[in-house]
Amino acid sequence: MQSKQDIDIKEYPNQLFFRTELLNWYNSSHRPLPWKGKKNPYLVWLSEIILQQTRVEQGMPYYHRFVERFPDIKDLADAQEDEVMKLWEGLGYYSRARNLHATAKYIAYELGGRFPETYSGILNLKGVGPYTAAAISSFAFDLPHAVVDGNVFRVLSRFFGIDVPIDTSKGKKLFSALAQELLDKNEPARYNQAIMDFGATHCTPKNPKCNTCLLKANCQAFLSNQIGHFPKKSKKISRKTRYFHYLIFNYGEEIWIRKRTDRDIWKNLYEFPMLEGDGSIQPVTQLLESSEWKTLLLGSEYSIERVSKPYQHLLTHQKIIAIFIEIQLKKELVSDSSEIKKIERKNLSKFAFPKLIDCYLMDKSLYLNL
Ligand code: SF4
Repeated sequence: MQSKQDIDIKEYPNQLFFRTELLNWYNSSHRPLPWKGKKNPYLVWLSEIILQQTRVEQGMPYYHRFVERFPDIKDLADAQEDEVMKLWEGLGYYSRARNLHATAKYIAYELGGRFPETYSGILNLKGVGPYTAAAISSFAFDLPHAVVDGNVFRVLSRFFGIDVPIDTSKGKKLFSALAQELLDKNEPARYNQAIMDFGATHCTPKNPKCNTCLLKANCQAFLSNQIGHFPKKSKKISRKTRYFHYLIFNYGEEIWIRKRTDRDIWKNLYEFPMLEGDGSIQPVTQLLESSEWKTLLLGSEYSIERVSKPYQHLLTHQKIIAIFIEIQLKKELVSDSSEIKKIERKNLSKFAFPKLIDCYLMDKSLYLNL
């Protein structure tokens, strides 16, 4: 294992140049964003959780919606989880919403409403990793902790020409140590914001603005014409494909949904009753014949009205392929399962669904009368 002594960040030259020019760039090019400059830790935390794995443009309306509905942490703590999930609907990575809610309750009721004011206290919160803890510590409390995320990996690896893979423990230690060394300890909030903005808007993954870059005179990737080479990763992400068959039982104005409660993707979101296929999308009749629904449907007349086209949704480690089977019942479905729930079709929009199902519902909006 790599020891701390093996990392010699002093071997990377032009550190002062990097810091100075980065801050010069920030003076002239920073993005005005609603949460910037705020010292209210609740608002900083909220914005940082929303922005995890999410672009600013996508997260912004969610931030406004949350602040308007939950102006302070107690409002969020006292909300029903279904409401929090509904407000989060479409943003993805739903564990963030569950953790946000759990943490709001913890701070409101276990910490007497007082947000932790130290890096370790913040890092202890559910859903907060080292990056988010550094961001909150510096933005809300001016503590000297450098952020290290995808933007920072990219900017530092390009400027300093570092080809140590960022997904190795050696890479993580090296970039963290270098980022901490480069941090302007007098203005950690401004410095952290500068490197995040620089990576997001200037030194972007594709087509970085090298020609107008204040750092290009000493940027190793630019000077060696190897920008596409950085940052380096050791492994490729592999994705597992899963096949979901959604059963949409219709009876008059009624429709059946269920809450996903297992330790799996989309926990606590709603969906239609679903059968997961093994290795492929399966023919509908064969699927119903062999499923737990057969007993439930036996004795009740039904007809399969339509089968949708396949919908595809990519997650970090999974690819979901789904079809929607619309089934018209001739008499009401009676199930003793507490899992499924009968609702009126017009109330579908009150529940939070994964984006995949939202896409189907949008396509079918006329049919489902939403
Ligand atoms: S010169 Fe290009 S690659 Fe180097 S820091 Fe500037 S934008 Fe990034």
